[in-house]
Amino acid sequence: MTIEKTEKKRIPLKEGLFDIEKGRLTGSKCPQCGQYFFPKRHVCLNCFHRDLEDVDLSTRGKIDTYTISRMVLPGSVMKEAPYGIALVLLPEGAIVQTVLTDCDVESISIGMEVELVIRKVEEDEEGNEVMAYFFRPVKGGSS
Ligand SMILES: [Zn+2]
Repeated sequence: MTIEKTEKKRIPLKEGLFDIEKGRLTGSKCPQCGQYFFPKRHVCLNCFHRDLEDVDLSTRGKIDTYTISRMVLPGSVMKEAPYGIALVLLPEGAIVQTVLTDCDVESISIGMEVELVIRKVEEDEEGNEVMAYFFRPVKGGSS
């Protein structure tokens, strides 16, 4: 017998940025010079090599620069302001633009250690869970 399940799926807000199952961001690595990029790209910005490889990126990094948004911007995954928007430098050297979640905006600082979170932001008409990525401060950690 067949059991028909209308199973809710978890789908990314934007394709190609992360792997929901693995809980990792997907970037590119240049096989020629070793440079990492996020989001994925086809041509290396460093040496112009083509055919970059898809790679899973580190889930932790440090805030390189940030800004605080005092209002909810149209299309933002954040429904309440203020919130932080940061460029996070990963150990591989890739830089990820992200919204900061689970943190007091006043506590955000450059060099702060943050970790990746992939979570549901809304449901679509079919009841699928729409997932987006964020970074949040590592608990008890700043190095
Ligand atoms: Zn390269």
